[in-house]
Amino acid sequence: MPCGAGPFDASEIHHLCVCGRPLLAMYDWERIGATWSRDSLPGGARSMWRYAPALPLDDGATPVTLGEGWTPLFPATRLGAELGLRRLFIKDEALNPTNSFKARGMSAAVTRAHALGATTLSVPSAGNAACAMAAYAAKAGLSARVFMPRDVKTPFIRECELHGADVTLVDGLITDAGRIAAEQGRPLGWYDVSTLKEPFRVEGKKTMGYEIAEQLDWSWPEWIIYPTGGGTGIVGIWKACEELERLGWVTGPRPRLVSVQAEGCAPIVRAFERGAETAEPWVGATTVADGLRVPAAVGDMLVLRALRESGGSALAVSDTDMVRDMRALGNLEGIGAAPEGGATLAALRRLVADGTIGSDDRVVLLNTGGALKYLDVLNPA
Ligand SMILES: *Cc1c(COP(=O)(O)O)cnc(C)c1O
Repeated sequence: MPCGAGPFDASEIHHLCVCGRPLLAMYDWERIGATWSRDSLPGGARSMWRYAPALPLDDGATPVTLGEGWTPLFPATRLGAELGLRRLFIKDEALNPTNSFKARGMSAAVTRAHALGATTLSVPSAGNAACAMAAYAAKAGLSARVFMPRDVKTPFIRECELHGADVTLVDGLITDAGRIAAEQGRPLGWYDVSTLKEPFRVEGKKTMGYEIAEQLDWSWPEWIIYPTGGGTGIVGIWKACEELERLGWVTGPRPRLVSVQAEGCAPIVRAFERGAETAEPWVGATTVADGLRVPAAVGDMLVLRALRESGGSALAVSDTDMVRDMRALGNLEGIGAAPEGGATLAALRRLVADGTIGSDDRVVLLNTGGALKYLDVLNPA
């Protein structure tokens, strides 16, 4: 719930609210709606910046972009036939710069950080956020400091270095990396782009929602299944639902949102099942899906609220099932999925088996990242 502080001036740097919770960007929808029509979109940018009026871009400014977003929404006909679903879709975020949907959030956050005069950016990351931040910082000419767990896979480290980032490996998990990044960066004035600790990564990620609605001819699917770590994607897609209603572009029922986590790290699932408003930190987090190895998320309350308001749910799947379903996506649909993408299919199988999802429901799986940096999980035992 809003704590009552704010609104804050968007022309100044802000991170968390005074209450310690995330800040979300607000827009003047009346002004935007008066001059922006969805009919203008077909000729627009073939990136997430096609929605520039709803993004944190100063009038007349150009974004820091590498072509992120406007990813295809593939009808998954072979997989759908196997599952008995007539209208299954996969949104393939692996086609983004640096191979994951983290590009969207970083394009928006780095655009804003650059406009606000930041010179050094820092981020704790399980891997993909660091790679994306490094690439956008390079594009904008800013210095990048990334902090990752010591056991992160080598391709993530090399990709950050490729983009000129300074890489620190940390003993522990992403939460430890976050603490160390903040301790080092605060006295030096680094601009922290941690998930939900600045307001603009959500703005980039909400464009997944805008695109799904546009690609389904301005309607929502019945279900969106999303692998949840820090939760920016869920929060962003739910924000898109509200904004598209305000613009009057989508009027039908909103989608039910499903968060998928790993059995070895499922703080949101546990809190959802308990009916709690916030999530207890998960002890001993372990999973091959690096993006899901997030034991505590600052936006937990926002994620749980979005799941409940949407009439959705949360479930945990095993690493074995994720990897099995990475293979299924690769075999049946030609999609190179990260384990997180495999996790959405594993969850879908369960929701079809227990009758929650019906054969006529429109279902969108978010393949949030590509397989290439995770090939080691496919090694024969
Ligand atoms: C970061 C990440 C996630 C988790 O995303 P959130 O929006 O922070 O919950 C899922 N999948 C992949 C591939 C990721 O890199």
